[in-house]
Amino acid sequence: MSVTESDLIPVVDYARASLDKAKDRHTVTDQQAVNDRTAARLGCRIVARFSDNDKSAMKEGVVRDDFEAMLRVLRAGRLKDGTPVMGCIVVADDRLVRKTGDYERFVDALTYDEGRVYADQRGFQDLYNENVESMGLMGAVISRMEVKKMRRRARAWNRARALEGQPKKGHRPFGWQDDRLTLDEAESALLRKAVERLLAGASLNSIVRDWQDKGILTPRGNPWRSQTIRTTIQNARLCGWRTINGELVRDEAGKPILGQWEPIITPKQWEAVKEIFQRRKGMQVIRTGEAVSPLPFDHREHSYLLSAIARCGKILEDGTMCNGKLRAGYDKSRGRGKYFCHSKGSGGCGGLARRADLVDMFVSEAVLAKLEERAKRTRTDRGPWPKERELTEKSEQMQALRERFHQRKISNTLFFEMVERLEPEIEALRAEKQSYELYAQQADLDLTDIRRRWYSKDDEDRLDISQKRAYIRKALHTVIVHPVGKRSGNQFNPDLLEPIWRQAD
Ligand SMILES: [Zn+2]
Repeated sequence: MSVTESDLIPVVDYARASLDKAKDRHTVTDQQAVNDRTAARLGCRIVARFSDNDKSAMKEGVVRDDFEAMLRVLRAGRLKDGTPVMGCIVVADDRLVRKTGDYERFVDALTYDEGRVYADQRGFQDLYNENVESMGLMGAVISRMEVKKMRRRARAWNRARALEGQPKKGHRPFGWQDDRLTLDEAESALLRKAVERLLAGASLNSIVRDWQDKGILTPRGNPWRSQTIRTTIQNARLCGWRTINGELVRDEAGKPILGQWEPIITPKQWEAVKEIFQRRKGMQVIRTGEAVSPLPFDHREHSYLLSAIARCGKILEDGTMCNGKLRAGYDKSRGRGKYFCHSKGSGGCGGLARRADLVDMFVSEAVLAKLEERAKRTRTDRGPWPKERELTEKSEQMQALRERFHQRKISNTLFFEMVERLEPEIEALRAEKQSYELYAQQADLDLTDIRRRWYSKDDEDRLDISQKRAYIRKALHTVIVHPVGKRSGNQFNPDLLEPIWRQAD
């Protein structure tokens, strides 16, 4: 017994692309191909196709002509030429309906007569069932889900643009001409110079002052402020990379997408700039140069090199070491700074003080020597990043996942669940790799330059306290300041300062 055309259930299908800015009907075509397969599988025959392209089903006031036409056909149960229509096929609910009201109207039209069928790619769905009617009450839930999906689709579109390396819409970026692609010679030179100065350790403020003195204006015609320069200089556009919402756009293989515009600096320089601002954000920096955690608030503003880094080494009556974090302050009677242990009421022992200038000098020397020694070792010891394999594997997993999603071999829910798990892992690995490579690069920096700038008499040139503290933290956990013995006299004894170095890997 063979199945003839007349045995197949005559249905219409509906497809919709809401953000199809490219104006091709690829998404609709794609949906129709799925519907063809669904129809074949379920013994249906598609007698008419309805589709709305470039239409959002969420927006008020958007009339979806084909959706409305289809409702009329379904209610009538036949096409204009009289061909019977017994049902409707879509890829999924969300292609059909986004508003509770539309859902109700659709169900109403389809179930106008008995025996109509409705199917999505999972199979037939029974719209005569009372439970389905209750979905109208889920309107709030549906719309919340929809808003999220819309945003995801909008992001996907932005991403598609970015993947082509097209510049973002909006104001002309400083450094480029109106076409947003060609460099503006003067402005790009200023930016390049600013980055070089910053990487050489100049403060952002000195750059701001310089630009203000020169009367340089932003593309909107305003004077530069440190916040605007900070943002501009950290923009990945400078090195030719593209971002969306501050995140680098990467291709399937995980490589940043190259824009069509001319870059001003190299990616390495840009990464180093990011790293610098990261460090200055009040983050604790470990010796790989990686900012690991926010510093407690009392670490942030310092005029002394070692306040809250150095600890009290006094042995208490119970035989344990005080270990209190030392504070710094100005000793008026002697006219100089000092480090001292908090009072008993504040968790210290109140029994230790040492002059700050000499402690700073000693610890500075010890830290510089340590950094120099480590840099020398790192240049020879450090191999390639050890987790490269793991990153490759995760990236490949992600790519395979995307391909399966694209071929619709995996559900939306499962896909996004897995993406949400994988993406942060990949991001974290990339960050780690970047720090590793940056550190390796930094190790090659001439440390004699750091030494020179540590002691420089020129305010502009000299490393500021927070930079020095970052280097100190990179090298050591703490410096234990042991109490001066009764007979030690007035001479400063550096042996009573005990640096606890961080482990070099
Ligand atoms: Zn103490």
